Amino acid sequence: MKTAIYPGSFDPVTLGHINIIKRAAAAFDKVIVCVMVNSKKNGGLFTPEERIELLRKSIHVDNVEFDVSYGLVAEYAKKKDARVLVKGLRAVSDYEQEVQMAMVNSKLNPDLDTVFFPSSEKYTYLSSSVAKELARYHANLSEFLPREILEDVKKKLEIRSDECDGKQS
Ligand code: ADP
Repeated sequence: MKTAIYPGSFDPVTLGHINIIKRAAAAFDKVIVCVMVNSKKNGGLFTPEERIELLRKSIHVDNVEFDVSYGLVAEYAKKKDARVLVKGLRAVSDYEQEVQMAMVNSKLNPDLDTVFFPSSEKYTYLSSSVAKELARYHANLSEFLPREILEDVKKKLEIRSDECDGKQS
């Protein structure tokens, strides 16, 4: 059974992520989409559990599972008996960082390889940060986020902005 891990923040999942998940699911027997809780990126809009909930709402493919990890992805892969990490590549800027990470991960876990999927042309500009920024300005997000989660993102940003107003007053 060829298991691949697709790690990321997914805060929240975008149509760019969904595109990569579907392609990975077609290439491997099982794909575990893993929300990595990264010490560098503290906070975030959604909690790790909420991010998984949004992923579950957005994608229904038999061989795709969801999980969360607070540790190193190289260790997580060992635990899951997975030998492949899936990464999406949008631009040259992604490439440099991702190749460095791939080397670090194979040092930590020599059985682990990284497979890159080039972003679909439609989504090369798209990141969770871009989607959140546009959502704050009430832009139409139907081309960026799965329709199943549009309301959740809107609501979350409303709560956040109420909290900020509360703090200021
Ligand atoms: P971001 O916050 O930039 O969306 P994530 O950490 O959630 O990033 O991304 C997880 C993985 O998905 C990374 O390998 C990233 O390069 C990839 N990815 C993110 N957005 C896209 C996209 N629009 N197209 C292809 N790959 C993507």
